This record gives sequence, structure tokens and C-alpha cells, in this order.
Amino acid sequence: LPEQEAFDIEYWWLEEAKLQRSPPPKPLAGKVALVTGGAGGIGRAIARRVLAEGACVVLVDIDQGALATVTAELAQAHGPDHVRGLQCDVTSEASVIAAFRHAALEFGGLDIAVSNAGIAAAAPLEDTSIELWNHSQGVLATGYFLVGREAFRLMKAQGAGGSIVVIASKNGMVASPQASAYCAAKAAEIQLSRSFALEGAPWGIRSNVVNPDAVIRGSRIWSGKWSAERAAANKIAEQDLEAFYRDRSMLKRSVLPEDIAEAAYFFAAERLSAKSTGNILNVDAGNLAAFTR
Ligand code: NAD
Repeated sequence: LPEQEAFDIEYWWLEEAKLQRSPPPKPLAGKVALVTGGAGGIGRAIARRVLAEGACVVLVDIDQGALATVTAELAQAHGPDHVRGLQCDVTSEASVIAAFRHAALEFGGLDIAVSNAGIAAAAPLEDTSIELWNHSQGVLATGYFLVGREAFRLMKAQGAGGSIVVIASKNGMVASPQASAYCAAKAAEIQLSRSFALEGAPWGIRSNVVNPDAVIRGSRIWSGKWSAERAAANKIAEQDLEAFYRDRSMLKRSVLPEDIAEAAYFFAAERLSAKSTGNILNVDAGNLAAFTR
């Protein structure tokens, strides 16, 4: 071609040629994730996030009714072949072992385990009953121990590494008014995650923590007694709680379930966090870094 003509050529045909390319595989394609507390606000958001990146998801929850609703909703959005719901009480060793076995048999293994099931109960220290203490430790610390240990056993047997993520809390780092049992249980989760990281490392199993600050929208915790207790402890009206947490943060932004899901996805995806284990990611709009007022 003459030189000028070569410059004038239009590459209209390239768009058509590009269509022949297959799309890049999704980061979690072929991966299997189990999410405890999957019927709750944060668990549902995490499940949606990893499903969108190509994973198959097993939702685990004690609340069968809520679990059925969320499982059906996600199956409709992402395809029934990608989602399962299993009732399980994370405080029961037998129940947790059975759930992991079911999940691995259903989808052919397990790569990601997110320990997110939780409750929140508050009381002034002097009124904290042994029942409230034991319940908090049972669902949070023991629940995460059982979930993490089972994930570890399965991932080790599978021999392909894996990622364990716990949704702990800002309250595992700093004390909150009238929440001693909850804070202690969340601190136990954070420390336990480091032990999982240490013992999992030789097998390529990573373990990390996501610490949310108050996530009010979508959370079932905040639709119950906890809300009234937090409002009383902070001397504000219940309807002002979201604004209260937002305004005292550095970024002046509310933390949403989707923000926690993004952080959990970061630790779940080998492509994003292959070199991160024993880590903590605070999703707190800056609340833990400084007193802003
Ligand atoms: P949520 O109440 O909406 O969801 C929690 C889910 O856990 C519920 O569906 C509940 O049925 C389930 N669950 C409770 N006990 C269980 C058990 N024994 N076995 C199995 N499932 C059980 O609450 P959320 O706001 O989505 O909280 C999720 C996690 O995030 C919890 O661990 C919570 O402590 C943590 N967190 C939440 C906030 C927040 O402000 N929402 C802040 C910090 C940490």
C-alpha cells in the first residue's frame, strides 16, 4: 500500500474480531465458598459478592425460614446450580462437621470459608449473666473455632490451599460500652485467626479478619434489642444510630454490608491477597485510627 493509504485504514473490523475472544475467567470460577450466617445482612452480601465472581456458595444459618428466602433469592439471581442453603448451628460440633461435609460433597470440595454467623448481646458489666457470657462465647468464639477447624481439616485433606475469613468486629480491638462479653468473644476470634494462619501456612491455607464498624442497614442484629441497648449506652435515640456512627468517623460515611463483602472478597480471592495471611482489615470509615471528637 502507498504510505498515505496505510494511515487511512479504518479498523472497523477489529471490533468484530474481538467478539471471537472468550471472556477472561471470573476470579473465583470453579471455587466453592461456605458462608455462615448467610441469611443475615452481611452474610447475604458476602454470598452475593463471591457468586458474582464465579464461586459456588453454600449458605449456612440457624434460621431455616430466613435461609430459605435468601437461598431462593440468590439461586434466582445466580442460577440454582450455584447456591445451596444448609441449616446449621455453629455452636454444635456435629452440626458444623455435617455442614462442611454436605458442602464439599455437593460441590466437590471447599476453597473459601467465611465465618460470619453472629449475635450481639449487651449489658452493663455488673448485670452480665453467665448465660449471656456463655452464649456470646458459644456463637462467636466457639462457633468460629468449629468453623475454622473444619475448614482447615477439609482444605488440608484437599491439598489445594484455601482461604478462611472471619467477620469479627471493631469491638474485638477496642471496648464498647456495656458489651464486655461481645468484645471479649470478638477479640478471641481475632486471635484465633492468627493461629489458623500459623498452622495453615504450610498447607497454603490463609486466614484473615475483617472488622466492621457498625453496619446498621440490612443487619438483623440492629433490628432487635441490640439497637435499643446501643442507643441507651451512647445516650442517643435509636433512629439516630446510623448518623451517630457516620458522624464520628473520619470519612463521615456509613459502613454498609457491601463494604464488608468487598473486604471478604479481597481475602477470599487468591489473585488479590495471595500474600496476606494473619491480617486484619478494619472497615470502619476511620473510626479505629483516631478520636475525631
Ligand atoms: P445478622 O443478624 O443480620 O446476621 C447474622 C446471622 O447469623 C443471622 O442470620 C443469624 O440467624 C445467624 N446465626 C446466629 N446464631 C447462629 C448460630 N448459632 N448458628 C448459625 N447461624 C447463626 O447480623 P450481621 O450484621 O449480618 O452480622 C454478621 C456478623 O458481623 C456477626 O458476626 C456480627 O457480630 C459481625 N458484625 C456486625 C456488625 C454490625 O454492625 N452489623 C458490626 C461488627 C461485626
